[in-house]
Amino acid sequence: MSLVTPLMNLNERPPVMFVSGKGSWLQDSEGRRYLDFIQGWAVNCLGHSPSVLVEAISSQASRLMTPSPAYHSETTLALADRLRASSGFDQVNLVNSGAEANEAAIKLTRKWGAQNKGGAFRIITFENGFHGRTLATMSACGKPAFDALYEPKVPGFDRVPFNDLAAVEAAISKDTVAIMLEPIQGEGGVVAATECFLQGLRALADEHQLLLVFDEVQTGIGRTGELFAYQLFGVTPDVITLGKGLGGGIAIAAMLAKNHCCCFEPGDQGSTFGGNPLSAAAANAVLDIVANPTFLAQAQANGAALRRVLEQVSQRFGLGEVRGQGLLLALNTHGSSTVDAFQLEAACFELGLLVNGLRHNLLRVMPALNFTVEELHLFEQRLIQGIEQLLAEKD
Ligand SMILES: *Cc1c(COP(=O)(O)O)cnc(C)c1O
Repeated sequence: MSLVTPLMNLNERPPVMFVSGKGSWLQDSEGRRYLDFIQGWAVNCLGHSPSVLVEAISSQASRLMTPSPAYHSETTLALADRLRASSGFDQVNLVNSGAEANEAAIKLTRKWGAQNKGGAFRIITFENGFHGRTLATMSACGKPAFDALYEPKVPGFDRVPFNDLAAVEAAISKDTVAIMLEPIQGEGGVVAATECFLQGLRALADEHQLLLVFDEVQTGIGRTGELFAYQLFGVTPDVITLGKGLGGGIAIAAMLAKNHCCCFEPGDQGSTFGGNPLSAAAANAVLDIVANPTFLAQAQANGAALRRVLEQVSQRFGLGEVRGQGLLLALNTHGSSTVDAFQLEAACFELGLLVNGLRHNLLRVMPALNFTVEELHLFEQRLIQGIEQLLAEKD
């Protein structure tokens, strides 16, 4: 059963109306509660409506929401300073969504190529990569389902296999200006780049005068246990993009770059709502908490505990490997015994647990970074119950 609504039909939504959320919990209009291990798609890093965020945006809303990006505001500048100080990048472009941040990165590299590399504009991207849903970012994606959509695509992207350094090297031409990738592919199946691959990309970029761009829209802001995933690998890109977790549930995204490639001038790039004080207040409140080493240590501990639970569940039922980092994890549901991850998502939903079936054989979880021990225990119980139900139906 699905509800008929005036919303364009772009998602298969369960026939449930969510009315409130707090921390790891969502509640529907019938008063049923759901333990949320999706969190708006890795967005609500502090859970639903954390009081610090509610207070920060209420207080900002009553003072100043949107003066226009053509004027200074203290809250926006405070965010830019914080991002610079915590990231090691020099300059910040604030926008509203991950795709818009990636568009900004694509534009920056193309302008840099026009000025510094004889008009080089081609960007090497990766199979199964995901960078968003504007036309240019879809063109940069390596998602097979996008290939036939909205032709013709934006030209200038060369797609190669992930973690294949030789393929990258072979794809470099005099027109290449950048390499763009997710350090851990999220939508593509929670597949991490190897350290050796990323170090190799850095070396190739240096050798061929290319910009290295990390799309950290999903992996940034503590999701992997470090504030930014690039810190896990000991490789520093020239540009990173952030989104999802940055606003903790409020739309804000950012493109950060090192000085040597910051070539935008007034008029080159802009966004009506980009970096407005209301969303910047949200991001400031998030960073106040998430950038704290004690919080990150707890997020790492939570990640390790969640991984152990998934591994134990996998072992108990004879499923497959657990992969990912920190609190971006996936369980391969096809081992010696198999469970369909889409069916498991649906079974867990009925049991009051939100998890994401990414493929038939892959279940992804992206909980709040600060879930409690009791919540993890309930997650385990409900996941086990869901798997048991599906296995019993098969018998
Ligand atoms: C979600 C995501 C995007 C797109 O972000 P939007 O806010 O939906 O535009 C881009 N890159 C990655 C890695 C993502 O996970």
